[in-house]
Amino acid sequence: MSTAFERFDHGPVTFYRVTRKVPGNRPMRVGIYVVDGVMIDTGPQRSREAVAAILQEESIQQVLLTHHHEDHLGNAAFVARETGARPWIHPVGQPLAAKPERLPLYRRLYWGQHSAVDTQPLGDTFETDNYCFRVIHTPGHAPDHIVLHEESQEWLFGGDLYLTDRVERAFAYEDISLLIESIRSALAIPDCELFCQHTGRHMSHQHQIGKKLDRLLGLRNKAIVHLEEGRSIREIASALGIPDKAHKWISGGEWSSEHLVRGLLRDADRLD
Ligand SMILES: [Zn+2]
Repeated sequence: MSTAFERFDHGPVTFYRVTRKVPGNRPMRVGIYVVDGVMIDTGPQRSREAVAAILQEESIQQVLLTHHHEDHLGNAAFVARETGARPWIHPVGQPLAAKPERLPLYRRLYWGQHSAVDTQPLGDTFETDNYCFRVIHTPGHAPDHIVLHEESQEWLFGGDLYLTDRVERAFAYEDISLLIESIRSALAIPDCELFCQHTGRHMSHQHQIGKKLDRLLGLRNKAIVHLEEGRSIREIASALGIPDKAHKWISGGEWSSEHLVRGLLRDADRLD
């Protein structure tokens, strides 16, 4: 496995992207933003050296976590130690950051096991020297997930809300109904540049996140038809063109298209 590291400058916003290459699998990417002295997310534990290099380059005054997952919070304890900044997180994430779960093997291999970190609770707004961000709770992907809206700059820091508009699978812990609700609340925001933690900058959050909502609702409608025809969850996933192969096996069943199908059917009140 190897880790590559790149820097992208978007005016006052810098995106540092970490790429993990695992033999036989697609590269996995995740990033860290730095804006106005704030580090947004801290990358996975396995990118520690890259994060140490960012700290040499940037003067970090505050640390903010979009949610508690290991590819975002992985170096939070390290960065807190190095900078003296106590990371901010949604209050729901505080106990999760203080007592991290033991990760399944594939996540330990990809991102590394993170250690506990002491955090402080985000309120409704988050201020830096030059900007004021509205903090919007957007659960679904994770219970503590937030996005940040800077109205005067027309920026939306989307955490993991977007990720992709070609959704093919979900994690067992995701709540698809809440995710759809959160996507709708993000779409109620006037159009912004989108800063996604995994895929970087996009010019229009309405366009990207709107495509994701269309995809989810399209899959949901088709899944309902297949369910009414008597197909099983597994058969529905195949019929939708998202059969589970390697991912389900690698993740020990935690990450699969069947979870997505179940979540969509639950959202439509077709499953308990
Ligand atoms: Zn996540």
